[in-house]
Amino acid sequence: MLEESHRYFHQAADVLDLAPKVRDILLAPVRVVKVAFVEEGDDGELMHFTGFRVQHNNARGPFKGGLRYHPTMDEDHASALANLMTWKTAIVDVPYGGGKGGIDCDPSQLSRFELERITRRFIERTKEVIGPTIDIPAPDVNTNADVMAWIMDEYGKYEGFSPGVVTGKPLHLFGSEGREEATGRGVMYALEEALKDRGGELAGTTIALQGFGNVGSHAARLIAERGGKIVAVADHMGGVSNVAGLDVPALVAWASEHRTVAGFTGGDAFDGPEIITWPADVLIPAALEDAINENNAGYVRARIVVEAANAPTTPEAAAILHDRDVLVVPDILANAGGVTVSYFEWAQNIQNFRWDYDRVTAELEKYMRRAYASVRDVARQKGCDLRTAAFVLAIQRVGRAALSRRSIREEIDLS
Ligand code: NAD
Repeated sequence: MLEESHRYFHQAADVLDLAPKVRDILLAPVRVVKVAFVEEGDDGELMHFTGFRVQHNNARGPFKGGLRYHPTMDEDHASALANLMTWKTAIVDVPYGGGKGGIDCDPSQLSRFELERITRRFIERTKEVIGPTIDIPAPDVNTNADVMAWIMDEYGKYEGFSPGVVTGKPLHLFGSEGREEATGRGVMYALEEALKDRGGELAGTTIALQGFGNVGSHAARLIAERGGKIVAVADHMGGVSNVAGLDVPALVAWASEHRTVAGFTGGDAFDGPEIITWPADVLIPAALEDAINENNAGYVRARIVVEAANAPTTPEAAAILHDRDVLVVPDILANAGGVTVSYFEWAQNIQNFRWDYDRVTAELEKYMRRAYASVRDVARQKGCDLRTAAFVLAIQRVGRAALSRRSIREEIDLS
């Protein structure tokens, strides 16, 4: 996975004619942390885990990025996702670098108490390398506000009151208004901008969505509220479709009760993987990586793909979509709403100040539309796709900061 994200980096670095020395500086991680721990389960049996935190780059500010609890979590995943965070925070222009981590566990097989114990142990083992001015974790797949609250509590045992150590906390515990829906809201703004590029608008546009967790469900709700028609949704258990548009609030209620969209009675069932080639104007992958790959990219029927998930498109698939003139809004732009509101949350925490919901959403909209416009400008100027343009912009911003911090005499094309 890391190799794939490096390929996107090098495509953009070639556009900038970036010196090999600068590429090396920008790709090398600052720190890779791996911790192993053994915990007693509720049944008294021992459970073995490995936790990761990769701190890729902090030239523009503290490392920032989510924690993922998933059986596939490993150093390669953490490294690739940490890389993406570096470019993402630069694109939305928040004062952070990039990091990512997680634990190789399957939360569906763990009790809430086991999850809490594992989380606290992971923080006990990594507390020296995180902190409000060092590295600030956030939710990702299978982690949520509860997990962030445990992290704040555990870290506070060693360092004292430090709500800014983590973002995505519960609202009643120094979280921010609008954080939970922020990534989905940002996806909605990115989609609106993409539709403008293609001469369309949200009202009446049909959308197929993969993944109905934090990101997917909020994106669906907000898009539907603005007149977009969510015609198909799939998750790890299966899919449900309705040509007239799914009743999104009812689907949200169903999914929160059943922990899946499968079986929802307001539509027809289908096999989950079919979602990628669903007949809709727009495809939003909001689950895991590699969902769009060389096997299915040629059959994608949407004309716009908005990458709500991280790394949902392999480089081979990206090339196929490009040749087929499908407009792809890349992950490092499309899903940057989460880290943007994480920044607002952190800024509120370190100032002991609180913003209201309207302020958060107004600021988020400004950051997202400005980021999209900057990437669009680079794409037009350099004659490249949005992904390459997003990497170009990020490399310019991170590269400039990185080189200014050390005495390396290399120039970066800032034109
Ligand atoms: P989540 O755990 O809340 O939801 C994940 C969803 O993906 C679930 O609906 C699950 O059923 C579905 N899924 C898992 N495996 C699947 C499969 N094989 N096929 C189809 N669906 C599958 O996670 P989330 O926080 O919504 O994150 C989703 C994606 O968005 C991830 O790539 C994550 O890195 C990215 N992301 C999340 C945030 C955030 O703020 N949460 C921010 C930026 C990017």
